[in-house]
Amino acid sequence: MPEPAIPAQILVFAGHDPSGGAGIQADIEAIAANGGHALPVLTALTVQDSHNVQQLRPLEGDWVRRQAEALLADFPIAAVKIGLLGGVEVIAVIRDLLAKLASDIPLILDPVLAAGGGHALAGTTVEAALRGELLPRCHLLTPNANEARRLSGCDDLEAAASALLQQGCGAVLLTTADESSERVINTLYRPDFPPLALTWPRLPDTYHGSGCTLAAALSAQLGRGVSLEKAVQQAQTYTWQSLQRGYRAGGGQAFPQRIDARRPHANRKSQFPYS
Ligand code: PLP
Repeated sequence: MPEPAIPAQILVFAGHDPSGGAGIQADIEAIAANGGHALPVLTALTVQDSHNVQQLRPLEGDWVRRQAEALLADFPIAAVKIGLLGGVEVIAVIRDLLAKLASDIPLILDPVLAAGGGHALAGTTVEAALRGELLPRCHLLTPNANEARRLSGCDDLEAAASALLQQGCGAVLLTTADESSERVINTLYRPDFPPLALTWPRLPDTYHGSGCTLAAALSAQLGRGVSLEKAVQQAQTYTWQSLQRGYRAGGGQAFPQRIDARRPHANRKSQFPYS
């Protein structure tokens, strides 16, 4: 019998969302559905429901370091995904851990600053540390429009993306799901390439954990060795289909259906993106 294929090992730094819509559960599901195996290092605990985050408690930096060191000593890491950080101590620990990893291992940074429900998930010191310590090291940054504006200080999204590239990240996938435009336009910006935009029909719901889902799917695709352009297309298709098949588990935001997201929806006709 041939050996079963080993999925790409994705080291994930993320917070716990007990509602299961966002955070580490979103990452585990999306990474598994995209052919990876998540190695989830917890950075923070939260109290939240499907409406909003109520409380955030970052873990002690030493706990983050020890979780990650045990994994780094045992698993070959194909990619790293960073989500909710919680505090500056955690950021310093992650910065030091990253310095020990080969610099060509894809690092995907989802700069989580606020919950969809509005609760702040990063104050100005966390935001500054994220910008100074992690952003210059990442291969792909996945901000929504609000995060891109905050991190760059630019109101115009094109200007924001080029300012973020100048701050040192390898590429920016800027999503506009948090805007109110008729369609969602997600654009990949890279130095020396024209922007690559994909346009999607705006779905009627608001979703909890859509950004986590996209960044985690990207980390699995890139960890499997898929090219950046293809990974960006496949991860968006996967995420959009997860949202389109999303379900309302609680009374607030809908949750993406990340597991087996390619299965046709029982009630709604599957739609494909506008080109
Ligand atoms: N809780 C945790 C642990 C998260 O990581 C995130 C986002 O990354 C959120 C809540 C907020 O998710 P959303 O912006 O989809 O509401």
